[in-house]
Amino acid sequence: CGIVGFTGGRPAAPAILAGLRRLEYRGYDSAGMATLTRERGLVWVKRAGRVDALEHHLQVEPLAGCCGIGHTRWATHGPANDVNAHPHLGGRDLQAPLVALVHNGVIENHEPLRNQLRDEGYLFQSQTDTEVIAHLVARELEAGRNLFDAVRHVTELLEGTYGLAAISPREPGVIVGARLGSPLVVGVGEDEHLVASDASALVAHTPHVIYLQDGETVRLTPRHCRVEHRERGSVTPRIDRIDWKP
Ligand code: GLU
Repeated sequence: CGIVGFTGGRPAAPAILAGLRRLEYRGYDSAGMATLTRERGLVWVKRAGRVDALEHHLQVEPLAGCCGIGHTRWATHGPANDVNAHPHLGGRDLQAPLVALVHNGVIENHEPLRNQLRDEGYLFQSQTDTEVIAHLVARELEAGRNLFDAVRHVTELLEGTYGLAAISPREPGVIVGARLGSPLVVGVGEDEHLVASDASALVAHTPHVIYLQDGETVRLTPRHCRVEHRERGSVTPRIDRIDWKP
């Protein structure tokens, strides 16, 4: 339903939370967040219920770090509960996941993909279609690909619709996003980048946005934004200015 990601030089969690609040009006049943921290690597929290519940949890147990992703879920596969909330984690060792991923949309071929991954030894915690994407990306990371190449490769295996964003403890400061049939917008700030499923989540931070196109994958660091299209290769993104007041 709603995606917000942030990478920059200030704490990610408050920026992501503010973005999720802007998307609340769309309706949702659970919310979650993952960040990359210096001390503890990848950390996350997932909660059924309102963004308030997530915020309350973050007050008790804050997520540090200057790079992270957040999500509000509108369940399509699996009931609304803590486990099915995003981010979903990928890897053979779920105590030390290689990737955290948030997703909007529906993966039509999630069943054959899940069966294949189970045969290869991946364990599933949730009933979502999204969890297969997390494990597929982890499988590519385990094979030595970087996060950008891993996500780009995995998009070729997916049937259905997705707007997604992923982070990996192997690549601090990096967010990779991709879209097909579900919107994703990049926010270009000063030494920081954001990504969201709707520009309204970005306007409090920056008026400069890049509307990603279907088939594109994006790699964000605080200072750089690289976009590649599935068929056309490297793309020079067009930066638009939005003039609404936050
Ligand atoms: N299909 C995914 C799920 O059920 C994503 C739903 C959404 O777009 O929020 O978890």
